[in-house]
Amino acid sequence: MVRFGEEHYSLDFLKDKGFVRARCRVCGEFFWSVDKDREVCGEAPCEAYSFIGKPPTTKKYTLEEMRDSFLGFFERNGHEVIEPYPVVPRWRRDLYLVSASIVDFQPHVTSGAVEPPANPLVISQPCIRLVDIDKVGLTFGRHLTIFEMGGAHAFNTAQRKVYWKDTTVALCHKFLSELGLRDEQVVYKEGVWSGGGNAGPCFEVIVGGLEIATLVFMSYRTLDGELIELPVRTVDTGYGMERFTWLSVGTPSSFEAIYQGIASRISKYIDAPKIDRDILEKYSRFSAWITPSSASSLREVREKAAQLAGISIAEILPDLERLEKYYALLDHTKSIIFILSEGVVPSNSKVGYLARLLIRKSQRLLKQLGAEEHLVQIAEEQLNYWGRWFPKLLEMREEVLELIEHEVSKFSDTVNRGLAHLERELMAIKSSGAAISTDFLVRMYDEKGLTPDIVSEAASKIGLPVSIPGNIHELVAEMHGAANPQEEQVDERLVVVERQLKDVPPTKKKYYEYPYEGKFESRVLSVGDNYVVLEETLFYAEGGGQVGDVGLIHHSNGTCRVIDTQPINSVIVHFVDGPLPNVGETVKCEVDIERRLSIMRHHTATHILIGALRRVLGKHAWQMGAKKEADYARLDISHYKSLTMEEIEKIEQVANSVVARRLPVEVKWMSKSEAEKKFGFTIYQGGEAPLGMLRLIIIPDWDAEACGGLHCQNTAEVGLIKILGVDKIQDGVIRLTFAAGPAALSHIQSKLRDYHEKYRKTDEELSRLRLLAGKILEDAPKEINKSIASLTSKVGSEVVESYSEVFYKPIARLWLSLKSYQKEEVIKGIRLIFDVSSISDELYLRTLAISISILSEPTAILLIGRGKERNIVALYVNNQCEKRGASLEKLASRLENEANISWAKKDNAYIGYTTFRDFGKMFSTIKSFLESLSS
Ligand SMILES: [Zn+2]
Ligand SMILES: [Zn+2]
Repeated sequence: MVRFGEEHYSLDFLKDKGFVRARCRVCGEFFWSVDKDREVCGEAPCEAYSFIGKPPTTKKYTLEEMRDSFLGFFERNGHEVIEPYPVVPRWRRDLYLVSASIVDFQPHVTSGAVEPPANPLVISQPCIRLVDIDKVGLTFGRHLTIFEMGGAHAFNTAQRKVYWKDTTVALCHKFLSELGLRDEQVVYKEGVWSGGGNAGPCFEVIVGGLEIATLVFMSYRTLDGELIELPVRTVDTGYGMERFTWLSVGTPSSFEAIYQGIASRISKYIDAPKIDRDILEKYSRFSAWITPSSASSLREVREKAAQLAGISIAEILPDLERLEKYYALLDHTKSIIFILSEGVVPSNSKVGYLARLLIRKSQRLLKQLGAEEHLVQIAEEQLNYWGRWFPKLLEMREEVLELIEHEVSKFSDTVNRGLAHLERELMAIKSSGAAISTDFLVRMYDEKGLTPDIVSEAASKIGLPVSIPGNIHELVAEMHGAANPQEEQVDERLVVVERQLKDVPPTKKKYYEYPYEGKFESRVLSVGDNYVVLEETLFYAEGGGQVGDVGLIHHSNGTCRVIDTQPINSVIVHFVDGPLPNVGETVKCEVDIERRLSIMRHHTATHILIGALRRVLGKHAWQMGAKKEADYARLDISHYKSLTMEEIEKIEQVANSVVARRLPVEVKWMSKSEAEKKFGFTIYQGGEAPLGMLRLIIIPDWDAEACGGLHCQNTAEVGLIKILGVDKIQDGVIRLTFAAGPAALSHIQSKLRDYHEKYRKTDEELSRLRLLAGKILEDAPKEINKSIASLTSKVGSEVVESYSEVFYKPIARLWLSLKSYQKEEVIKGIRLIFDVSSISDELYLRTLAISISILSEPTAILLIGRGKERNIVALYVNNQCEKRGASLEKLASRLENEANISWAKKDNAYIGYTTFRDFGKMFSTIKSFLESLSS
């Protein structure tokens, strides 16, 4: 642990003001105070909070009034006010959440690589930290997951000294005086700040027992325990806006100070537990003693604080426990809306996991408070309230609420699914005689989504004791809190080549200048077993999800094929197949330009699509990964459910309308701060951007991204954009596969070919079925006929007849619907169906004839069953036919004359017998009758 000597803290400003240095008799740290008799540093728990019930400021502030006073003060004192940054630092890869105002300017401003947006500057930055999540509520507001850090920052370089220690402390002191604090109420406690490989001395500013600000002088880099001076000395001050507000109102908890404007609205859903004010104030003064740890349990520390306060803890429990939960809920729901409004989708990884943790914890708190169903409403109240100062929240309101609602129902599904598993595991633990370990609780949370209180509930049902460590959520958050460096697959080829390229100068990249050209000449600088390095190149080296180019190199020894192009630091390596050129010779090169153009179209299409996705699905749709190849491209985005057909079509329409608008695709170089100001943080869709100036790809009024890839000059060149597939690849992430231009066309053509083939097959299948049905129609009636004949001898013909239509009816339907009859003609709008069957069975023919009654168009039917000696004729018309004037009687009488038939009427059908064999004549008799009808 680094320590700094007195000389680092001994400031003229403090000495001139009459501050003297002393050592705290409780904690042993040094501090500066004007009170020469002071023996303790003043920070609780070296002494109790003295501001509870008697705030030392001249007036009471709300959080926003305090923020305004702070920003206003520093603005009057030469600082430029900077708008707060998002709470999710998309510009960094090593962090999921902004935990301090200085994060906004790390690592490039503090390292000196990039100019700050202003110098000095002041900002009130919402910060989120989950490291103390389990203490939130218990400690009455000393710990929060979300708070605003007022940061006044100055960046001192060799060229420009802005201000350093004396001015920093003087400004702080002046601000405190303006709030009405007297010199003797302020203690500056010496401290050491270190983090992220940097360190420096700091002052903690203590008033009324509360640390309200930290003034850090970031001066060194630590390397193997040694301190190396930084080129930029940064004044990093953090003024706790919530703590300042709390100090000014002196309420028992900081939650009352922070949420004073919203508590009455929340009370619609939960009753804030009421505890005697006087008792609460007494207890709160000693709340700094409430620091549960492995050494002392929550019960013990609560007991200790109550004892010091001179109250009985039993008197206020369990109301106290409810109050602590209520406080935690206020805090967590505020964190949730801030994170989700940055377009974070709750998931199982990265910042999505932390959002999920907060939602699940809040949901359990609500359940314990008896208001399980109100998370969405409470979040809505928070959005409406904080949206007044953070407009982004209102912009994202509907999306955030939908995300929460979706996540809550998902959580309840997860719990229901996990419970059976949990019960099995608990039974196994019980029968083995072991106890429930912390590891088990963490595992259940992590793998099954079961919060510790759910495990506890289930365990107590089977009589298994559980003790939940007070920091369980902190453990889980820690596991997921710091971004682990992405596990990137190491390309072995590159590792080998890198060693051989030590003295090769950077390659001149000509592709940015001439993205449409593929032919060039260049000198060979280096040749390896399987690679060539040129002085300059038009071959694009893989980067930003865009694959490397391929092509040919013609040289004195023949031609080699470039099979891949990769960057190694600033050298571009062409991996080749075939004879190698000589070092020093000039070679003729050809990029496979058709392939390259297709990749360019896919890259520009990706930027167009991102814009479309954010407009159709919402602003939570962030790029999570992308790959642009020649035949297709894929884009992974954060989204919480799968896409509907309508959404996919809408996205395609919107994207293609951007193509049709012929928008220019501009390339602009800009400083980070200028680009962020102009386009917002969505420029970091592709992830962390490299150092220095940003290369921005801008499609005006549509999309702007920091990107190192090659693009079309106009959206019109992209041509058709077609989404080929959408898959959920992990919780909260969906993958779109798509193609653009000719590649899209060939995908569509092949799809159509597939459909065509399928259709042809279906058609073949259908005619096979027809044949089969025809066979059934021929054979089935004969079989049934035989069975009926044998039945008749047993039960009598009447019984059989009354059931036989049950046998024939399905056949009749099939016969009619497959049109398995000889012919059909439409005469004056009347269908005339005609068939000759080899089955001369009255009942069968009658059933066939009557089947036309289901048809809605006017239909007449004439059926003939050929017999050995005589033929059976069946005649029938449906109602619609009858209405057209073609009555059954008229038709029957015509036929009777023509073919000498004797009719009998059964079930409204005419059945007759005849020896007349000219069936064609019978058909034309009916036909000419129908023709004679007046239409
Ligand atoms: Zn102390
Ligand atoms: Zn790009």
